[in-house]
Amino acid sequence: MRIETDLKLGFTDVMIRPKRSTLSSRSLVSLEREFIFLHSKQKWSGVPIMAANMDTVGTFEMATALAKHKLFTAIHKHYSLQKWKEFMQTANEKITDYIAVSSGIGSADSKKLAAIFSQHPELKFICLDVANGYSEHFVNFVKKTREQYPDKIIMAGNVVTGEMVEELLLAGADLIKVGIGPGSVCTTRVKTGVGYPQLSAIIECADAAHGLGGQIVSDGGCKIPGDVAKAFGGGADFVMLGGMFAGHTESGGKIIEINGEKFKQFYGMSSETAMNKHVGGIADYRASEGKTVEIPFRGAVENTVQDILGGLRSTCTYVGASRLKELTKRTTFIRVQEQHNEIFSK
Ligand code: 5GP
Repeated sequence: MRIETDLKLGFTDVMIRPKRSTLSSRSLVSLEREFIFLHSKQKWSGVPIMAANMDTVGTFEMATALAKHKLFTAIHKHYSLQKWKEFMQTANEKITDYIAVSSGIGSADSKKLAAIFSQHPELKFICLDVANGYSEHFVNFVKKTREQYPDKIIMAGNVVTGEMVEELLLAGADLIKVGIGPGSVCTTRVKTGVGYPQLSAIIECADAAHGLGGQIVSDGGCKIPGDVAKAFGGGADFVMLGGMFAGHTESGGKIIEINGEKFKQFYGMSSETAMNKHVGGIADYRASEGKTVEIPFRGAVENTVQDILGGLRSTCTYVGASRLKELTKRTTFIRVQEQHNEIFSK
């Protein structure tokens, strides 16, 4: 046994220090970024915020709404080929820049991935997602996927430490998804004791990825727009959101009425709810590592998008970054023991 004693930080352990700035208005800030991805060499531009590949978040309806603002959606892996066909028929051609096809690493998953790509060769992004990206099996799967799809942009995860970011980039991934345990409906830390505070994970993994010319996606743990700004400030190239995009018209699932108020169900992808829905229950050798919650219905996602993008533009003006690209360089975090004033919060 060994203990690492240097303190690792989450979003609530820091604030961003304001800096002298020449920007006179938030409207002068550009949130668009351009990337050329490491292996696929494909060019991308857009606002690097992503809806998570959860069936209550990463839906086709969400992708349509977010793509209007050049935001990205990792489409969940449970749509049938027929649903993909129907969506691709209605989608404008630019949509392929703003969606990824998600897959696990089972043989059924890779067959389905191949079927989706043969049906829609114009799709560009693959999101290979496992709860634990540390297994050799996963690394080999990333290698195989790269051989099979040399021109596609491959996102792979999840991991939280630099050496594994390097390993996955060397195996052929373009973008590494970072985050173990911070998610709003994740119970991994409760069930296993495993995890890594998200801000430190971002800082360390971004450093490793950028050293090799790759990028990272900070995945999980953002509760408020300020957390999204902190994730970018820490070095994340993309920020993936689950809970913050849940509960909207475009999120999957039905509206539930409780005492006249409207709610939507939101659940982790390894919760009992998800496993009952998609794989017929929880296998007896494993525990559910996700929660199921009912969250107040929040209407169209458009308002939430404006709220997040407005907050981010404001962060940029506070530190004098005219482009999102400059935010990390302009960020000085201060360690704190207080966050916002909650006197009037419910
Ligand atoms: P959020 O933005 O809601 O804080 O986090 C979203 C992320 O939580 C997802 O992108 C995914 O990485 C993670 N996640 C989703 N469902 C589950 C689950 O059932 N268990 C765990 N451990 N993580 C989950």
